[in-house]
Amino acid sequence: MSAPYHGACNCGAVTLTIASEPLWVRQCWCRQCQKAAAGNATCNGLFRTEGMTVSGDVTWRGYEAASGNTVEQGFCAACGTPVFARNSSRGGAQVVRLGVLDDAADLSINAIIWTSDAPDWAYFDPQVKQWPGQPPVAKPAT
Ligand SMILES: [Zn+2]
Ligand SMILES: [Zn+2]
Repeated sequence: MSAPYHGACNCGAVTLTIASEPLWVRQCWCRQCQKAAAGNATCNGLFRTEGMTVSGDVTWRGYEAASGNTVEQGFCAACGTPVFARNSSRGGAQVVRLGVLDDAADLSINAIIWTSDAPDWAYFDPQVKQWPGQPPVAKPAT
């Protein structure tokens, strides 16, 4: 499967279409993600917002991350499914929670981050690059 990607929350009130391939795909074990993902890591694709269409009511809640940046998590206002996240340091792109995409099976994880916050039972694929915290910010590809 390749772009465009289509997705929806559990109740169907929020739907989205993404025109481009992800800039990266990561698993995140930070504490905020564990809360959003019922105790597990979140699986996230960073996509350009250009060419992304969203319909339905998304509720945003923000917090200050360890980096000092503001991170906001976006949920379906009706059913609470985690749909998006965005970071004040990243213009023009936002994270889509891979669980909402209809067909993201071949979007494989490029990196596992915040492994130091993961529970003891967490398994990290040894083939995938790992970071104990936030990785250095890569300049977005153009
Ligand atoms: Zn919903
Ligand atoms: Zn996280």
